[in-house]
Amino acid sequence: MNGRPLEDFLDWEFLTAEDAFMLRARLPSGEELECDIERPEGMPMGLTLEPPRIRRCANHCDFCFVDGNPTGLRANLYIRDDDYRLSFRYGNFATLTNLKPKDEARIVEYRLSPLYVSVHATDPVVRRWLLRNPEAPAIVPQLARFAEQGIRFHTQVVLISGINDGAQLERTLGDLHGLGDAVLSVSVVPVALTEFSKHHLVAEPTAAQCRAALEAVERWAARAMAERGQPWVYGADDLYLQAGAPLPAAAWYGEFEQRENGVGAVRYLQTRIAQSAGRYGDWAGKRIAVTTGTAMGRLMPQVLTDLAAETGARFEIIALENDLFGASVTTAGLLPGAAFQRALADRHDLDLALLPAEAVNDDLLFTDDLDAHVLAERVPMEIRFSYDFADALAGGQAVGASAGVEP
Ligand code: SF4
Repeated sequence: MNGRPLEDFLDWEFLTAEDAFMLRARLPSGEELECDIERPEGMPMGLTLEPPRIRRCANHCDFCFVDGNPTGLRANLYIRDDDYRLSFRYGNFATLTNLKPKDEARIVEYRLSPLYVSVHATDPVVRRWLLRNPEAPAIVPQLARFAEQGIRFHTQVVLISGINDGAQLERTLGDLHGLGDAVLSVSVVPVALTEFSKHHLVAEPTAAQCRAALEAVERWAARAMAERGQPWVYGADDLYLQAGAPLPAAAWYGEFEQRENGVGAVRYLQTRIAQSAGRYGDWAGKRIAVTTGTAMGRLMPQVLTDLAAETGARFEIIALENDLFGASVTTAGLLPGAAFQRALADRHDLDLALLPAEAVNDDLLFTDDLDAHVLAERVPMEIRFSYDFADALAGGQAVGASAGVEP
């Protein structure tokens, strides 16, 4: 592209952003093509790229949910991703421990901002221990270098009992606060382990530790409110649940920046459901599946209680693992179409399945290129895309011609 080789979708998008460019390509036959391309602004090229080859993670966290998978699953579920490109594009958290100088240069050149960064602890020794990576660079100087170039961050701290809570959490919040406007938000998320996790090495925070973490969050949030007019640091919904504390009101979360990370997700969805009250059709008695990624799966029950009361429907949560990008990718937006197909193909007992609208692009293609219309023909129930349930159940459109139910 204009004489530069294309490495991935980022090069493609940034280098084709101009309205005129030169594309040189070698076809599978070996034939070389050179195209002088001009296109009106905003007109798509009509070209689909293969899903990117995922950057592998250089860490070996004891709390990694990939290790927390049982044996015998599809091979891709054991991929550990740590990819700054997915961080920028999809809000997937990355540790930035596997960046090469070339990657750092790209982040600055393409202004990949904001990035979503797993900080966990700013003390370099504690962070290296948590990531099980003695090579991990110190995060504060690394973020500061990017900040000088105008890159901004949403950050998270995954809270581990006795390791990065207490005084370490205090230090982490202080250091991130010290980076000023470059850190747009911080979330504190209690670690979630499975029965297969390394429980002898890592433990979920107790209710008392969650309450202590919430106190630290609230103290720093009060300071940020006074200085910046917004809380800046947020406890994940799970932190409140485990601490036995009530969730803050919806207004606390501002733009719900870390909603996909389970921060304010419950309040966001409850708000959207309430806003549509009275506009739902008659879903009484219908059986509706809510498909989502594993990040949101645990928070859904409280939201669906509200929705069931509004609609009279019976809901079932289906939390899907991502077998295209790996189980460490937990956001609903990156789930491949094949995962939905596998989960729904034999579910003749369902009347409707709600799918996350973030999982398809404008052409209704999933990340694995499956067309939603094709999916609709392969599953026995009606499917609808939804950002917040309310949009789909209060007048949403069915995808494809699958026999289904209309309210
Ligand atoms: S938790 Fe994330 S950073 Fe840690 S090993 Fe797993 S994929 Fe890598």
